[in-house]
Amino acid sequence: ATPTALMVGTGRGAQLGILIKGPEVLETTRAVDTVVLDKTGTVTTGRMALVAVHTADGVTEEQALRLAGALEHASEHPIARAVAAAATDRVGELPAVAGFANVPGLGVRGTVDGHTVTAGRQALLDEQRQPLPPALAEAKAAAERAGRTAVAVGWDGAARAVLEVADAVKPTSAEAIADLRSLGLRPVLLTGDNELVALAVAAEVGIPAEDVIAEVLPEDKVATVRRLQAEGRSVAMVGDGVNDAAALAQADLGLAMGTGTDAAIEAGDLTLVRGDLRAAGDAIRLSRRTLATIK
Ligand code: ADP
Ligand code: MG
Repeated sequence: ATPTALMVGTGRGAQLGILIKGPEVLETTRAVDTVVLDKTGTVTTGRMALVAVHTADGVTEEQALRLAGALEHASEHPIARAVAAAATDRVGELPAVAGFANVPGLGVRGTVDGHTVTAGRQALLDEQRQPLPPALAEAKAAAERAGRTAVAVGWDGAARAVLEVADAVKPTSAEAIADLRSLGLRPVLLTGDNELVALAVAAEVGIPAEDVIAEVLPEDKVATVRRLQAEGRSVAMVGDGVNDAAALAQADLGLAMGTGTDAAIEAGDLTLVRGDLRAAGDAIRLSRRTLATIK
C-alpha cells in the first residue's frame, strides 16, 4: 500500500466522522469478518431512565430510592445515573455513602443510613445472601422479558426492591447492522446485561439468538474476543465503556464510540466520532476502497 493512498483514505475518514489512529489501520480493516458489538451505549443509546419501582412488603418506594439512589450516586454507570437522577427527583437530597465499592459488570455496594446496601444484578445480591422474594422475582422476570434491565436492591439480609431501567435502541442501529451484514460481516452482540434483555435488543436490530453473548463480566469480554480469534475469525470490536477497553485493544480492529469513555477511545484504532453505528460500515467500505485503488 502506498503511503499517499492511505493518507487520502485517512482524510476521507475524517469527512465521514471516522478518526483513524494511523494509516496502517486501514490495512487491518480489510481482513475483518466478524463485528462484536457492545450493547449498552453502542447499539442502544445508553441513556437509561427509571421506569418502575417494585418493593417488598413493608418497604416504600421512597425508602428503596433513597438507599439505592445514594449508592448509585457514587457510580458513573449509565444505570447508576438513571437511578440517582430519579431518586433525587423523588426524595430530594440523598444521604452519604460509606465504604462504597463498585463491582464491575455486577453493581455497587456500600453503607447508607446504617444499612449495608447492594444494588445490581441478582448474582451480586446472592453473594451477599440476599435472596429475592417470589413477588419481586416475578417483577424482575417480567421486566426482563420486556427488554428492560432489572436492578435488584437489597439490605438487612434480603433483596427488598427491584428497579426497572429502560434503555432505547438507537434509531440507526438496525440499519447499521444490516449494512455490516451486506458487507459480508457477521455481527455478534456482546453484553454484561441479562440474557433476556440482550435477546430483546438483538431481535430489534436483526441479530439472531445464536449470535448473542450475554451476562459476560467485563474481564471476560476480552476472553470472548480471543476465543473468536482462536476460532480463526478476524474480529472488529465496537464499544464505548471502560469495560470494553481491553476487548477493543485485543480485537484485530477496535472501533470506539466517540460518545463513549476516554478509556475506550484510547484503546480503539478508530473512533466513530458521532456515536452512530452506521460509521462502522463506512469505515470498512472506506478501507476496502482505499486498498482497491492502491492495487
Ligand atoms: P454492558 O456490557 O451492556 O455495557 P456492563 O458490563 O456495564 O453492561 O454491566 C452489566 C450489568 O451489570 C448491567 O446490565 C447491570 O445489570 C449490572 N450493573 C453494572 N453496574 C451497575 C450499577 N452501578 N448499578 C446497577 N447495576 C449495575
Ligand atoms: Mg457499553
